[in-house]
Amino acid sequence: MIKKVYIETYGCQMNVADSEVVVSILTDAGFKTADNINDADLILVNTCSIRENAEQRIWRRLKAISYLKKKNKGIIIGLIGCMAERLKEKVLEEDRFVDIVAGPDSYRELPLLFAEAESGHKAVNVLLSHEETYADISPVRLDKNGVSSFVSIMRGCNNMCAYCVVPYVRGSERSRDPETVLREVNELFNSGYREVTLLGQNVDSYRWDKDGLNIGFSELLEKVAGIDPLLRVRFSTSHPKDISDELLKTISRYDNICKHIHLPAQSGSNRILKLMNREYTREWYMDRISAIRKFIPDCSISTDMISGFCTETEEDHQASLTLMEWAGFDFSYMFKYSERPGTRAARKNKDDVPEDVKSKRLTEIISLQNKLSALSKKNDVGKVLEVLIEDYSKRSRDFMSGRTSQNKVVVFPDKGYYKGDYVQVLIERCTSATLLGKVTKH
Ligand code: SF4
Repeated sequence: MIKKVYIETYGCQMNVADSEVVVSILTDAGFKTADNINDADLILVNTCSIRENAEQRIWRRLKAISYLKKKNKGIIIGLIGCMAERLKEKVLEEDRFVDIVAGPDSYRELPLLFAEAESGHKAVNVLLSHEETYADISPVRLDKNGVSSFVSIMRGCNNMCAYCVVPYVRGSERSRDPETVLREVNELFNSGYREVTLLGQNVDSYRWDKDGLNIGFSELLEKVAGIDPLLRVRFSTSHPKDISDELLKTISRYDNICKHIHLPAQSGSNRILKLMNREYTREWYMDRISAIRKFIPDCSISTDMISGFCTETEEDHQASLTLMEWAGFDFSYMFKYSERPGTRAARKNKDDVPEDVKSKRLTEIISLQNKLSALSKKNDVGKVLEVLIEDYSKRSRDFMSGRTSQNKVVVFPDKGYYKGDYVQVLIERCTSATLLGKVTKH
């Protein structure tokens, strides 16, 4: 009997890309995907461990799923991804309904782990690898729009940022064979996709020095952009200590490399950046922002900010606010510091900033960013921007939506356009989240 797998994905873009690899591996092993969780023989929850509340959410979800197992004992439940890697066998102690625990580097083993679980055993594989990139696996696309897709170019991370659990749950950094990246992007383009986002924890340190090739991220990006001018290319995430002028020049040379860079700052205080082991200073970060503005004047810049890291003073916090003001970020992901077990900060630094102070500072960071984002959108009113259509707008099928090269969402009246079309849109007004306008050229 053909087994059906149902997969739920939590966390970052990397996990979305991983779920597509997982479905591909299981499909090759004879599984079919179930659109409804009630039809599944195997339920996989692909998890995130970046903050405590991410894991709490998973425990609640597992509780909700376990009733299915009470109804049908034959169902196999698997916890995969970063939380599975962080907790390992402890997951089985915490939740007796979980049958499989699989870390991010063990997905090739999933068919075997399923067989083991089906024979009544708990199945665990949380081995991290120095080699695994799933380069030969053709992911099964799980997105609904068929226009934009993620392509992972590397796995793991060698940066040991003090607050971050990623190196412990995704292992050391390894880059993927560029030929396999180009093959995957070509497959996507030929099947109608018009945008790819190249993924890595720190794409700037991508490097392939094998088979007589010596390819860094800038060269790889150029090769991907060279596939077709109709293919938009995005990438995430950059690291301020590694982003080079050479990369910025490459971005400026190709219209189809999107003019948006996500450059996590985390803090504006040199003392905190040192404690975080970010390996750059406020001045270096500002220099990188200036370089982006110099080589790519119309580039939008987004960032990550953490409030309330260990020992953070009001003065450190003010330094974060002034950096944000100076940089004029278009968008930010903003969080309170959440101590992660096993990290350098958890081992060495006391999580001593009171929760209410963390929240107050986060509120200040968010309200500043809202002002900056509103200004960034207001500056687009009156401009004609190229938009890649992704789908109908969420609110009405009389409108379509897509994003600009700067990664801003635009909504406009539908006049018989198609997903994957490029249109020129005159921006007439904006809301806090969206640019609104009308098509001037199709
Ligand atoms: S660069 Fe730092 S924050 Fe990003 S994944 Fe690596 S360790 Fe974590």
